[in-house]
Amino acid sequence: MNVIVSAIDYFINWGRSNSLWPLTFATSCCGIEMMQTSASNFDIARFGSEVFRATPRQADLLICAGTITHKMAPALLKLYMQIAEPKYVIAMGACACGGGMFADDSYSVVRGIDKIIPVDIYLPMCPPKPEALLDAIIKLQKGIRKETLLDREKFVEAHISKLKEEKGLLVEDLGLNVTYMGVSKDD
Ligand code: SF4
Repeated sequence: MNVIVSAIDYFINWGRSNSLWPLTFATSCCGIEMMQTSASNFDIARFGSEVFRATPRQADLLICAGTITHKMAPALLKLYMQIAEPKYVIAMGACACGGGMFADDSYSVVRGIDKIIPVDIYLPMCPPKPEALLDAIIKLQKGIRKETLLDREKFVEAHISKLKEEKGLLVEDLGLNVTYMGVSKDD
């Protein structure tokens, strides 16, 4: 039985990993590099990810390309929540990974999007070049091919625990009247 389940998992993961459709989401300069990645010189279509969608309902990859401010955090969370499971996140650029050049003294920038949503791949640099984004997608594909749905649940649960421990933005600051993966702002 395990052999059959593993074989099915393998083919499902193979399909998923080769058809990651990114949401069109760029907030600042890193977005230019993301656009460049889909141009002919780099040709993201080789990895099955050329279909940038304008709605989260049709995407399964959120490439957060750029700075996220506290004001934008609820929008990022809402978009993430509207993507169907299983969904994946690449934090593109130093700003998305940890606040970047704003990490020390800005009052407005979120110090890393993992304070809000779970991140699968961190891609630092300012800005990462298209080749680096392609490398991140390849690494994500490799991860997906080895993953089971149980692994995915554990990954999300670990993120929720971390948010609770750190009193992440979701719980303390966003003020959203929503429940996010089982965590409400009143928890
Ligand atoms: S990491 Fe650099 S290039 Fe990317 S959004 Fe931040 S400042 Fe802009």
